[in-house]
Amino acid sequence: MIKVTAALFAGGITVTCGFASEPALKHSDVVFMYASSEEAYKAYGATFVAWGGADTEERVRWHHDLGVRCTGSMWCLTAGAKLIHERPEIRAACAVDIEGNPVEVPWLFDHTHEGTKSYFGCTNHPEFRRLCRERVEQCMKGGADGLHVDDHLGVAQAAWNFGGGLCDHCITAFRGYLERKVSPEELRAAGVEDVATFDYRDIIRKHATTRAEYQKIQRQIPLMDRFLEFHVEAAADHVKLLGEIAEKTAGRPVLLSANAGIPQKLHTYVVKNLTHVVCEVGQNAAKGTQAIDHAVEAYAMADALGRPMASTASGWDWAFIKANDRETLVRFWIALAYAHGQRFMVPHPKRQWCFTKELGTHLYEAPIDAYAPLYRFVRANAASLDGYEAVAAEGIRTADRTRVAVRRNPATGSLVLHMLNLNYVADEDRMLSSHDVSIRIPASLVSSNARFAQVLSYDADPIRVPILRAADECEIVVPELRLWSLVAVE
Ligand SMILES: [Zn+2]
Repeated sequence: MIKVTAALFAGGITVTCGFASEPALKHSDVVFMYASSEEAYKAYGATFVAWGGADTEERVRWHHDLGVRCTGSMWCLTAGAKLIHERPEIRAACAVDIEGNPVEVPWLFDHTHEGTKSYFGCTNHPEFRRLCRERVEQCMKGGADGLHVDDHLGVAQAAWNFGGGLCDHCITAFRGYLERKVSPEELRAAGVEDVATFDYRDIIRKHATTRAEYQKIQRQIPLMDRFLEFHVEAAADHVKLLGEIAEKTAGRPVLLSANAGIPQKLHTYVVKNLTHVVCEVGQNAAKGTQAIDHAVEAYAMADALGRPMASTASGWDWAFIKANDRETLVRFWIALAYAHGQRFMVPHPKRQWCFTKELGTHLYEAPIDAYAPLYRFVRANAASLDGYEAVAAEGIRTADRTRVAVRRNPATGSLVLHMLNLNYVADEDRMLSSHDVSIRIPASLVSSNARFAQVLSYDADPIRVPILRAADECEIVVPELRLWSLVAVE
């Protein structure tokens, strides 16, 4: 295996691309989703902009001068209604259904141009791929540190969920996939006589001739699992290619991210091609702190796939926050992500994306004072975050409505327990503090000469508490748990 090393100069941080010796993002990185003002960067201690905002040389230099690494961003979703309307060759490169009709992006229902809708682009079609290439060249020509690919699934999204992915180019590419990956026996069983001339639409039309029929019975059509896997693998290859174009444009190795919405399966295929994941993770805002399993699963999956993640909540979650003014809940989301080894992107001071069916796209302006203290805490306590890895919390006992995430630094053996308070009163947007919270830890997890632990909180000075030892257990008592505390065993 060849090790490719590239020094990314911004902020004096050395990053290794491809085969990472240092992760693309440190645990203590403070990530903005979109570019922001100097004032906001300084208030938060920003280190990275994940989702564009740096597509000119001047903007890249400006970010670097502030110690912030930055990215160019493009999307593979659609050419946009205006281009589709004006250019026939782009119109011909949209995703199509079994009837040959273009497939519209449902959540862009309000983005039309003179009656033309925003249709999915087909990332298997040469003309749409050319457009994607141009977009990468455009956003990377300033020499940004990374490329972020938005809507990386391209036509695969249309194929999995909206009845698309059935143009001539998709069908030809699927044939190539079958030749490479599927045994003659499996093909014969599915009724494929000659793969070289095989047109999957012939099989589909035996079951459905309209989009509506197709969407009803899609998963029962022979070879459909293969067809869907082909689409996500093709999308992952396309993202890899875009990363190569980005490196060529920037003239050096660059980071590569996509909004891969793990833990959803269709979003996992691309992760191996990325240096890190930047995405929305549903937080179930309406349920307060009571339905966080999905978010925890996403953070653990990024860990398991070996790629650091910068997350934000979904547009629906943010719409809920804006409508109900729930700042404490957002602070909990920030803590939850960092407690599980990932980063929650700074709630954007000007344009945090919100979405509901009734309001469509709208924006939340996140007050800096409400959230910056948590991020400054993260920066100030990088030594208790960076280099630590998740350890199973088995055998650890603590109070009800308290969550503990355990992290250990394999190099030093140091242990940090992240304590999260789940005792949230939604109507008042308030955490009820817990007092004298006992944590009992199997003695095997704690170094035999550890006598004290530091309790670190973003909203209080550090305090030192004793470690009480029993036969096979250690006990630490945290005097007050408000929202989030780190218990660092000395
Ligand atoms: Zn296609």
